[in-house]
Amino acid sequence: ARKFFVGGNFKMNPISREEKRTLLKVLNSADVDPNVEVVIAPPALYLIPVKELLRGDFKVAAQNCYVKTSGAYTGEISPAQLADAGIPYVVLGHSERRTLFHETSKLVADKTRAAIDAGLSVILCVGETLEEREANRTKEVVEEQLKPVVEVLKEADWSKVVIAYEPVWAIGTGKVATSAQAQETHADIRAFLSKAVSPAVAESTRIIYGGSVNAKNCKELGGQKDVDGFLVGGASLKPEFVDIINATR
Ligand code: 13P
Repeated sequence: ARKFFVGGNFKMNPISREEKRTLLKVLNSADVDPNVEVVIAPPALYLIPVKELLRGDFKVAAQNCYVKTSGAYTGEISPAQLADAGIPYVVLGHSERRTLFHETSKLVADKTRAAIDAGLSVILCVGETLEEREANRTKEVVEEQLKPVVEVLKEADWSKVVIAYEPVWAIGTGKVATSAQAQETHADIRAFLSKAVSPAVAESTRIIYGGSVNAKNCKELGGQKDVDGFLVGGASLKPEFVDIINATR
């Protein structure tokens, strides 16, 4: 069985160390389902303090990394540096990176390979825009985002990959995908993995949903057969994140 996975993507929040400490207090005192893997992705500046202050059963993730190991890449952090700092996960290909920072699916794939080679696990984000969904292109768009990853990973260890399906139109909009929409795309992704990688990898890979997940909608989404958890933005900064972690309890 696939272990339920709940990630909290803090994005470029909070803006003060004081707020960060308050958030950590809520998480550290929470009563959570021990069968859920919980991963918190704070801004890079806070990765090490959060790792040190966060309870031992929660993990941390970087929100991005570069493809190279070291060198003249001002402003970037390498997978090797994250690994050396004891950071186990990295989020790659978030729609905000693809859109605002022009990351291509090829770059995201190369970063995924580099991260896995450095020993990290990857939360790989994919998802369609509203225009693409309305043109009935969701399956095609998500497959186009995944194909370069399959090509570069080949026989690499897929247990190090969690796929986050995040429809762009649902991110930060309050417009959550219906559980049927999420289930349909998750099943399509699993079928694609089965064909493009192997049935065993398709069966064991966690596919999580992101986009306006909150304490109210998480139970129905989390009850879908192919929804193995969530990647939570806004609600991960609030006490309701604990209810989302416990969605399947
Ligand atoms: P929201 O939960 O704020 O919609 O953000 C989702 C997201 O982008 C998580 O990576």
